[in-house]
Order: sequence, then C-alpha cells, then structure tokens
Amino acid sequence: MSNALTIAVIGAGLGGAAAGALLQQAGYSTKVYEQAPSFTRLGAGIHLGPNVMKVMRQIGLEERLDAMGSHPSHWFSRDGKSGEYLSRIPLGDFARQEYGASYITVHRGDLHELMVGTLDQERLYFGKQLVEVDDTGDKVVMHFSDGSSDEADIVIGADGVNSCIREKLLGSEAPIYSGWVAHRAIISAEKLKAYDLDFEACVKWWSEDRHMMVYFVTGDEQEYYYVTGVPEPEWRHGTSFVDSSREEMRKAFEGYHPTVQALIDCTETVTKWPLLERNPLPLWHDNRLVLLGDACHPMKPHMAQGAAMAIEDAAMLVRCLDEVGADNYQEAFELYRTNRFERASRVQKVSHDNTWLRHDEDPAWVFGYDVYQEPLKQPQDM
Ligand code: FAD
Repeated sequence: MSNALTIAVIGAGLGGAAAGALLQQAGYSTKVYEQAPSFTRLGAGIHLGPNVMKVMRQIGLEERLDAMGSHPSHWFSRDGKSGEYLSRIPLGDFARQEYGASYITVHRGDLHELMVGTLDQERLYFGKQLVEVDDTGDKVVMHFSDGSSDEADIVIGADGVNSCIREKLLGSEAPIYSGWVAHRAIISAEKLKAYDLDFEACVKWWSEDRHMMVYFVTGDEQEYYYVTGVPEPEWRHGTSFVDSSREEMRKAFEGYHPTVQALIDCTETVTKWPLLERNPLPLWHDNRLVLLGDACHPMKPHMAQGAAMAIEDAAMLVRCLDEVGADNYQEAFELYRTNRFERASRVQKVSHDNTWLRHDEDPAWVFGYDVYQEPLKQPQDM
C-alpha cells in the first residue's frame, strides 16, 4: 500500500511545512526535519495571494488567515518621487470573486507558526541539520550534524536556497547574488499617527533601479512593514542578513516621497538581506530524492511569490503522488516537475526583471491559478 512508505521532508520553512501538512493529511507516514533549534518571529511580512489561499483552504488554515491578515483593496504602484499612481491592481472583493480566494498580507512569523502548528508535533524534529544523504537504491539514509541518522523511502528537499539535497543531485554550487539587497523593517502604526499622510494598505514605491514595497502585516493594521530592493554590487558579509540603519535608508531613498521619508523616520530597527537566485535547474528529482521551493527555484522576491511557489509545489507534489500512487514515486516526481517547471521558471524570470504590477496588467495567470483544478500535463506531452 502506497501510504506505507515513509516520507522525509528536510526543512520546515513555508514549503516544507506545507508539504508535511498535506502529506500527513493525505495519510502518508511523514517526518519533518528542521535544522533550526526553534523558530522565532523574525520581523518580516509576506503576501498570500488567492493562489496560495486555495492551498491554505486545503490545509484548513484559510479562515484563520483571513481573520489574521490585512485585506488590501488594491496593490498600488506609485512613482517614488512624485507619488503619481503607475497602477491600481484591484484585490479585496475583486480578488475573492475573480480568483476564488482572498489576497492578504500577514506577518511571516504568524503564518509560519500557524503552518508548523498543523504538523504532527511527534514527527517534527528540530535541531536536525542534514549533512549527508545516501540514496542506496531501495531506501535513503539521512545523516544529521548531531551524529544521528534516520531512514526514509522518499526524501523531499525543502531545505531552501543552499539545499543539501540539491547539492546531492547537482553538485556544490553557490547561488547567484543578484546584485540587489532587501531592507526589511516593521513599524508601529502608532508612530505614523504623527503624520498627516495616507499610509496605504499595499503600495510599492518605484524609481529606476530601486523600490520600496509597503503593507500591513496584521488585520488590525497595527504593524506596517516595508521591504526594499536596492542595488549593492557585492555581498561580502557571509551571513544571510546584517543590520542596516536609518541613515543607510535615508541615503538609499534620498529624494523619495514624504510618505517614504516618514517610514524611514519611524524605523527603529532594519535588517538587510542579499537577494539570491539560481537559473532554472536541469534536474528536480533523482530516484528517491525530489526538490521543492527555494531548493530548486530561488528567486528575487519582487513578485511576492517565492513562498507561494514553494507552497504550490508542495500541493502539486502531493497531488501527483496521489494521482499515480506513491509506490510509483519516480513517475509521480516527473509528473510533478512537468506541471511545475514552466510556471516556477516564469515567476523566477518576472521576479528577476522586477516588472510585476508596475503598470496596469492582468495578474490572473498568477492569482487565478488553482493547483487542485489545473488539468495535469503528462510528461510525454511536453
Ligand atoms: P525556506 O523558507 O528557506 O525554508 C528552508 C528551511 O529548511 C529553513 O527552515 C531552514 O532552516 C531549513 N534547512 C536548510 N538547510 C537544512 C538542512 N541541511 N537540514 C535541515 N533543515 C534545513 N515569498 C512570498 O511568497 N511572498 C512574499 O511576500 C515574499 N517576500 C520576501 C521578501 C524577502 C526579502 C525575501 C528574501 C524573500 C521573500 N519571499 C516571499 C520568498 C520566500 O521567503 C521564499 O521563497 C520562501 O521562504 C521559500 O520557502 P522554502 O520553504 O522553499 O525555503
């Protein structure tokens, strides 16, 4: 019986947590291994479009997220200096009617906590950093940095941009530093009351080579968040983020609109992250190993769809395992790749170009996608 297979998910980020939750729900014997000793509420927000909310519906989190998140009426794009509107993309009720679910923005930590909470806590292992994986042909042996090891029939690499499973499949290769960094800060809405300015629920301020995306991360609109894209030729810090400062922000956004200046003035702490990418991978799976999310298609975050792609991947992978039976895992993995490669690669490309919603355009191909309704393409048709 296929559900007798043991499936290991490496990484309990947003993609791994989605995979674990959906596999456990479908009755697969699933274990999730995470290198971090625990998770903390890092200062960051995330957009969840209707395409992701349909997966959240399946996981059973849609209502709680709807209650928790901010529901912007639009995605506005504005000229960073003059404030002129470049686009007004309707979300809110329009999104619910047209795309079949809400468009929300939430605190990343709150979302992650909810998702991790849906996992079987007895089969979620923290402090387990995979360092070596040995696919012996009839099983996979996983070795962890604490000296322990475990076995599984199938291993899903949801272990992010520096994936150990990707390295096993394709060899050691650092991701590409894009030449852009992202600053991230959360601001208390209380502080913004001092300004006679309109702080919109979801707005991206643009100029030639940089931008600032701003939105609320809680439904009560108490926490406002910005995330930038700013050119920086090299990343020499060797860490996944460093502290930035108000002074650095002022310099980067000199001449920007008074609303942006107000946000910078209200900033207490701000961090800076290198934006990393990879070109589309030639291999997503081999024998008993398969990749999802940033492990196989890391991208610049400029469409706010990186985690969305990881979560869609998880849903499609489980759908394909169900479709052909987990015993036929190699067939399932190829069916999964066939149905994800084109979309994930397109989102990677548009994110790289940073053109998404800068001007009025129809976002239906992203937001209207339903991973459960999409007709499955067969590998031989490609
Ligand atoms: P990750 O979130 O990186 O999770 C990987 C997990 O695996 C981690 O928990 C890690 O600790 C663990 N791990 C790694 N190696 C090992 C190992 N060897 N053994 C065990 N565990 C391991 N996406 C959106 O959809 N919307 C947004 O608004 C958005 N904004 C973003 C803003 C910024 C500035 C950035 C940088 C990204 C943004 N993204 C956004 C993209 C999103 O964060 C990623 O695409 C998403 O987190 C990928 O999920 P993942 O589960 O594949 O990888």
